[in-house]
Amino acid sequence: MVETIIIFLIIGLIVTGILISPVLTKRRRNRLKQRPFPLLWDSTIENNLSIYPRLSPIERRRLQGHVQVFLAEKQFIGCQGLQVTEEMKLTIAAVACLLLLNERGEYFPKLRSILIYPSTYFVHETIATGNYVVEERRVARLGESWVNDQVVVSWEQVQQDTRNWRDGHNVVLHEFAHQLDQEDGKAEGVPILPRKSDYHNWSQVMTKEYQQLCHHVQQGIKTVMDSYGATNPAEFFAVATETFFEKPHQLLNHHPALYELLQRYYQLDPVQWA
Ligand SMILES: [Zn+2]
Repeated sequence: MVETIIIFLIIGLIVTGILISPVLTKRRRNRLKQRPFPLLWDSTIENNLSIYPRLSPIERRRLQGHVQVFLAEKQFIGCQGLQVTEEMKLTIAAVACLLLLNERGEYFPKLRSILIYPSTYFVHETIATGNYVVEERRVARLGESWVNDQVVVSWEQVQQDTRNWRDGHNVVLHEFAHQLDQEDGKAEGVPILPRKSDYHNWSQVMTKEYQQLCHHVQQGIKTVMDSYGATNPAEFFAVATETFFEKPHQLLNHHPALYELLQRYYQLDPVQWA
């Protein structure tokens, strides 16, 4: 009898936990968003992110709310002796949260920690170069996004990219676009879309644009997007995101279908910020 009651109690707790947990998370996040945004934080973001003053007052307020949630939920870890400062956290959070301005309600759910290196860092990569032949190389990296729970960036690169918001290069936009793509567990250039019917159009536009970039890169034709986007569809989506935010006019003029697709996905129109 006692065992039966205990089992029912446990089942009850699990069921209420499952039902209540998203509601509690939403409530907690709403409380964080409503907190006053410190003036010092506002000026730090303004000093580091040249696009920030150009956002509409609503977008700016929304971004501040997302930054509050991001800082409360994610862990920042300094590597190679780097001391993580408030400036680092705010700058990375503000750029990453630009991707969330559309209010889709998720905050890179798989991501737990952001690892920050002072500058370019090196990793050992093992590559199969033939049957039973494996080569180990030391590779320089500026950033990376792991499917499980981490994003890694070089602070020197973050600073360089956020101050120069016109060249289409931004390591934070790039790695966090990978996080959006990897949310379903796969890195294939297809993030979770609002409706099932959206996937067909996404695949059509992305495939056509990706193939065009690959062709232009092979032919040595100058492209709006960085040639790194021709690596694979996952890199194409990350590079297209960087270009959408940093070179919106050029992307709209030369690739209107791609611009429109990203505009619908991010629910933003960066041309307005130029
Ligand atoms: Zn990448």
